[in-house]
Amino acid sequence: MGEELARVKGADLIHFDVMDGHFVPNISYGMPVAQAVKRASSIPLDVHLMVEEPDRFIPSFAELKPAYITVHYEAVTHLQRTLSYIRELGVGAGVALNPHTPLTGLEYILADLDLVLIMTVNPGYGGQPFIPAMLDKIRACRELCQGYPIKIQVDGGVTSANARELVEAGVDILVAGSAIFKSADPEAYINTMRTQGE
Ligand code: ZN
Repeated sequence: MGEELARVKGADLIHFDVMDGHFVPNISYGMPVAQAVKRASSIPLDVHLMVEEPDRFIPSFAELKPAYITVHYEAVTHLQRTLSYIRELGVGAGVALNPHTPLTGLEYILADLDLVLIMTVNPGYGGQPFIPAMLDKIRACRELCQGYPIKIQVDGGVTSANARELVEAGVDILVAGSAIFKSADPEAYINTMRTQGE
């Protein structure tokens, strides 16, 4: 894993997908792997909790001092409370929306948000194609967050080919997994994505 992380040392964040086998069908990594990533890389972590009842996981992940912890809109009942809790632990608070989940409701909690993650595929598996209808959602989200220092992130099917379109629609943070790790030169791929977004 240290070798894989060394291949992406030009990245701004290490996006870490935590899957519980309930909220999404897959199981991915837990704390031991997150701790190993933290030890192997000085790049800040960006923790995406694709889990039911994410509040249970927040304190231990917060100990890794990530830039953000993001929970799913669909997985929490008291979203505002969960976001405040993340911030109390000194971490940026994010909410992720599945492709079919509307932006409705976020207008009331904009002051509690540091990041909105628009899922551009259904969460749970890597390598899925980008859902084009999400471009309109990104634009609407940009509009909604006007005047707040909220970052918009996309996750799923992001490549150097759609990076520019996404940034033009209002995205600040592009998450890519398969596209980067399957490329011959991940470092160069990250640079291309960065240039596309400028
Ligand atoms: Zn993710």
